[in-house]
Amino acid sequence: MTEKPRLLLHVCCGPCAAWVVRKLRAEHHVTGFFFNPNIHPGKEYLFRLEEARRLAKNEGWPLLEGEYDLSAWVREMFALRNEPERGERCSLCFNQRLRRTFEEAREKGFDMVASTLSISPYKVTRQINAEGEALSKEFGIAFLPENFKSQDGWNHARHLAHDLGIQHQDYCGCVYSQRDRLLAVRGTITR
Ligand code: SF4
Repeated sequence: MTEKPRLLLHVCCGPCAAWVVRKLRAEHHVTGFFFNPNIHPGKEYLFRLEEARRLAKNEGWPLLEGEYDLSAWVREMFALRNEPERGERCSLCFNQRLRRTFEEAREKGFDMVASTLSISPYKVTRQINAEGEALSKEFGIAFLPENFKSQDGWNHARHLAHDLGIQHQDYCGCVYSQRDRLLAVRGTITR
């Protein structure tokens, strides 16, 4: 019997990870990696981290944790602060989070890398996979170019998260996505 590959899964949050991990575990040994310095404010970061920890413990999979350096993230993204969601800022944000995941995978000897990010209907899968595939070449570690939202994945994920009592968030995570959501609610987008 062939061994399942050891996969390091970048976890953006608990509700997105619940269904994705169950799906991937059929063919991989999955370890989660929570690395999301984009999340603002710190209180929200801690909330999402705690939900991911609770999920991993209850579902029985290991979860590694990266650093949280919000200031460094903002410095890196500042020039792109007025980009709309799904624009260049998001590509850089995906690249940064996946790069750190590849570094962790290299250091710990994982066979491949994937991310929960493509489950979200608000994110462009090809944008995520373009970054993952470029990093795969750079690091010499395989990347799983999944589109988890296909075949009704998002609804499966929502229902499972609800059944497990894991809460969804109402904005992507960064201060800019929070700003744009608030302005959209008020009916004016002014950046
Ligand atoms: S909107 Fe989401 S993906 Fe885009 S930069 Fe902000 S946190 Fe990152």
